Amino acid sequence: MRFAVISDIHANLEALEAVLEDIDDQNVDEIICLGDVVGYGANPNECLELVKSRCSVILLGNHDAAAIEMLSTQHFNIHAKIAIEWTSQSLKKENKAFLSELPLKSEKSSMTLVHATPYEPNMWYYITSLEEAAFNFQFFNSPVCLVGHTHIPIIIVLEENKELYVHQDTIISLNDLSGARLLINVGSVGQPRDRNAKSCYGIFDEYTGTFTYRRVVYNIDKTQAKMKKIKMPDFLINRLEDGR
Ligand code: ZN
Repeated sequence: MRFAVISDIHANLEALEAVLEDIDDQNVDEIICLGDVVGYGANPNECLELVKSRCSVILLGNHDAAAIEMLSTQHFNIHAKIAIEWTSQSLKKENKAFLSELPLKSEKSSMTLVHATPYEPNMWYYITSLEEAAFNFQFFNSPVCLVGHTHIPIIIVLEENKELYVHQDTIISLNDLSGARLLINVGSVGQPRDRNAKSCYGIFDEYTGTFTYRRVVYNIDKTQAKMKKIKMPDFLINRLEDGR
């Protein structure tokens, strides 16, 4: 099977549409969404409905949980809080009900899928160091674990001899690394934070054991204009063009 894996769309419809269009050219069997479909952007309902219609697996993200009051926003920064309040008021009842049913974690073929961390996914921890990655490798058994949450694409390799390192390329083949396992952050469709404003997602091809990042240009001006209209904080609007 060949999978497209998207995450952290954050109600950015222009980004999601551009990514789906790119995916349509990639000959994939299924699309997987690792969560945070809503929060920050101006189109939570449209994004959720599109994800629902296109994805075979959809996981719950922390912003999704906060938008339906399953998670308190006490640990959110002020900008995220404002966005969640607006999102919560804007989401249709049936879309809230849909979000409330989403799982935190899933296993599919050779992949473990989770929004935040394989260890206690309901705690919304972040993997921002090799130490945290090493710890999390203990909590999945599959060859590959795909995560989102930090909005920063990264591939961490655990070799059979226990050597742990960050892979320095945007493509990796498991077939070249016998016995290795991978922890991969697929990056963010709707709010990339790795100083690259283009939408980010990944393709995992089980036949070849290859994971590849793809970056996609979208109409940032249009997204920003919509966010302005609904009075989202400037910080959230400006960060899109800088990819931070
Ligand atoms: Zn997110």
